[in-house]
Amino acid sequence: MGSRKGNPCVGCGACCAFFRVQFYWREANKGESEHVVPPGMFEDLDLNYRCMKGTGDKHHPKCNGLKGRIGRDAACSIYTQRPSPCRAFQASFSDGKPNPRCDEARRAHGLKPLRREDWEI
Ligand code: SF4
Ligand code: SF4
Repeated sequence: MGSRKGNPCVGCGACCAFFRVQFYWREANKGESEHVVPPGMFEDLDLNYRCMKGTGDKHHPKCNGLKGRIGRDAACSIYTQRPSPCRAFQASFSDGKPNPRCDEARRAHGLKPLRREDWEI
């Protein structure tokens, strides 16, 4: 009997320091969303959209909510209040299919893309 390897996203965090994480303004407004992104963690992109602070940086995007070291002990400090793009993002093979965006983020941080086996028991 094998033992579960665990969720490979735990400790990774590469996607939190690679993309601009943008969302509709309602997600940052109390009373407008089920999970409200905390004040001070986002900035205005335009009239309708907000982005996680730090992820709009063209050269070194990194979400202010990310704590720890990427690929080692990285973790989202606002996990239960993270915005919809973070909730929707699928790690490669978490649902049986590769996600080139996950792979790209990992490669950019010197991590190998996930394989199907990384999710196996
Ligand atoms: S809010 Fe959390 S999950 Fe989303 S990009 Fe920032 S650190 Fe990552
Ligand atoms: S989705 Fe991919 S890049 Fe993001 S934390 Fe999980 S394994 Fe890392």
